[in-house]
Amino acid sequence: MAQTFSDSETAIAAHMADANIPALLATLIHFTGTADHLDDFPVPVTDVSTWGDENGGIPPEKQAQARALAAHHLARWRDAGCPPLPRPSAAAVDRAMHFVAGNQVPPEYADLLASELHLDGTPGATGIAIDAPAAAKAAFPVVIIGAGMSGLLAAIALQEAGVPFTIIDAQDRVGGTWAANRYPGVRVDTPNHLYSYSFEPAHEWPYRYSTGDVLQDYFERIATKHGLHQHIRFRTKVTAARWDSTHWQVTLDDGSSLAARAMISAIGQLNTPKMPDMPGVGSFAGPAFHSAQWPDGIDLSGQRVAVIGTGASAFQIIPEIAGHVASLAVFQRTPPWLLPSAIYHEAVPEGVRWLLRHMPFYANWNRFGLFWTLTEFLRPAVAMTEGWNQPGSLSEMNAGLRQLLEASISAQLADRPDLLAKSIPAYAPGGKRMLVDNGVWATALKRDNVELIDDPITAITASGVQLASGRHVEVDVIIYATGFHASDFLASMAITGENGRDLHAEWDGDARAYLGMTVPGFPNFFMIYGPNTNIVVNGSIIFFSECSVRYITGCLKLLIEGDTTALAPRPDVTADYNARVDAENARMAWAAPDVNSWYKNSKGRVAQNWPFALVDYWNATRTPAAADFEVTP
Ligand code: NAP
Repeated sequence: MAQTFSDSETAIAAHMADANIPALLATLIHFTGTADHLDDFPVPVTDVSTWGDENGGIPPEKQAQARALAAHHLARWRDAGCPPLPRPSAAAVDRAMHFVAGNQVPPEYADLLASELHLDGTPGATGIAIDAPAAAKAAFPVVIIGAGMSGLLAAIALQEAGVPFTIIDAQDRVGGTWAANRYPGVRVDTPNHLYSYSFEPAHEWPYRYSTGDVLQDYFERIATKHGLHQHIRFRTKVTAARWDSTHWQVTLDDGSSLAARAMISAIGQLNTPKMPDMPGVGSFAGPAFHSAQWPDGIDLSGQRVAVIGTGASAFQIIPEIAGHVASLAVFQRTPPWLLPSAIYHEAVPEGVRWLLRHMPFYANWNRFGLFWTLTEFLRPAVAMTEGWNQPGSLSEMNAGLRQLLEASISAQLADRPDLLAKSIPAYAPGGKRMLVDNGVWATALKRDNVELIDDPITAITASGVQLASGRHVEVDVIIYATGFHASDFLASMAITGENGRDLHAEWDGDARAYLGMTVPGFPNFFMIYGPNTNIVVNGSIIFFSECSVRYITGCLKLLIEGDTTALAPRPDVTADYNARVDAENARMAWAAPDVNSWYKNSKGRVAQNWPFALVDYWNATRTPAAADFEVTP
């Protein structure tokens, strides 16, 4: 609900200095009831040609006109006492939606985008009610594994539906990845006005891309607001779970066990640190640790430090520590692609925060604009065109993207040809996660006390890092920013399904699921952020978790309302689904043979990523289809 205000029209206009102009213009439909004012403005361009321009190329004089118009309407609304605004016509909403999205919305997106707008408020985590007597729900306890972003979300959905649950978490606080990753510089790389639950939009984000502590506070606050702490068993691990024909018997590492009618894994894909497979790891005499296990209170000032890896974690750590270490050796095996974004570390301007608080529906349209530009904007540029044979790119669009990214890296390193020679990836853009870049990486690499080393490492020694060239780099501290065992889904627990089936034996290192959530032979078992649900270039992972939780809640509704014992996906449906996922993944940049990343498992299959559009996952997970399941009455 927007807050009332008494600011003057001049002050209101000043608040709009940094407003997102397409969102501001769309918001005016709520004040005027029509979208006619859009006739006076050029449609924003939402493609690579306006990269980095949040206003989609709308010229400055038109931006000024938009701000003046919006200030006028907002002042008149203030004069009227900030009354509830009437619902604009469906035609006006539709036109505004297309306007913000640069008139690029394909028809299949209409429902998704309308629902993302939340013009009628949010129905809660899922809006799904389970119509069953309280006793039937009480007899259906659920165990949720993990109290991170997805586990809290599942808990809120179950709470709203009246289903009892217990959350088990290995850490001592909520927050999952944000609680675990406490390295210097940690922050989200999806804009926060999108990387937030749709039903808890938090207009007070201090940064456009907030730091880890801010995100940790957000998840703590949400857990407190929804009264979740009382349901969480912290510092506890699930070691095993066994299906006993009606229940999951869940064994915990404190020796106790829980019986649950359903089990939801929300442990994420990036929870088990991966140390590099090279001789001597463990033999280093000084402090050596993984980026996700940053020791509390370690002081790196004046130390000679090695960072191994140049992925997303190293990319955030290095600029943060370079200024106060004695020397920093950055060991790079493969250079990353950098996605330029000047605003990456920027605070949200006060005027924008004022608008988010006071101008009804501005937050909705602002989020909608982010959703559209981050949703499908880049996906076509990372798909292969059959027959394309230029090395380092996959299609004409991909070659265009490469040009844009290369130009940005080249401009930043023009004065350091030695660094530039090491910094342009050979693989096509999109093969690995692109790293949001505002220039601090290049600045750090150029420092006198920093060296970018791409000679292969042959071993870790007691005093440093041995290179293939014969050089030995002496250091005091080694930071392993070497990623996670992402392919080993649920490796820390034994899971036994129907007839003694062992999940890990069935997967054999190649995890598969139906819609990333359910597995044949493992009834009433659900995963959030399971196999093939990671997104590389499109959207916010919270969107994916919200889709999954809606689907899982829908499955629980089927079970409880139908007084049903169990459901598990049909093997044929699951196999057909995975064949489609594999075929589409094979067309994407991350499947290219020259790309080695956490997106592929030991068999070379892309087991992490969702290759299709977001709208496809949204559609597939809206309501579970009873016909997809084998049901035990
Ligand atoms: P990562 O992307 O897997 O990067 C690991 C790095 O270590 C790579 O540069 C890799 O080189 C290198 N490496 C691994 N083993 C090595 C070895 N034996 N010798 C030399 N180098 C080695 O891991 P990450 O940086 O922790 O990121 C993982 C994922 O977490 C990201 O893709 C992202 O999804 C997520 N993440 C997100 C954020 C954020 O939102 N801001 C921050 C951190 C992480 P190669 O490339 O040659 O394999």
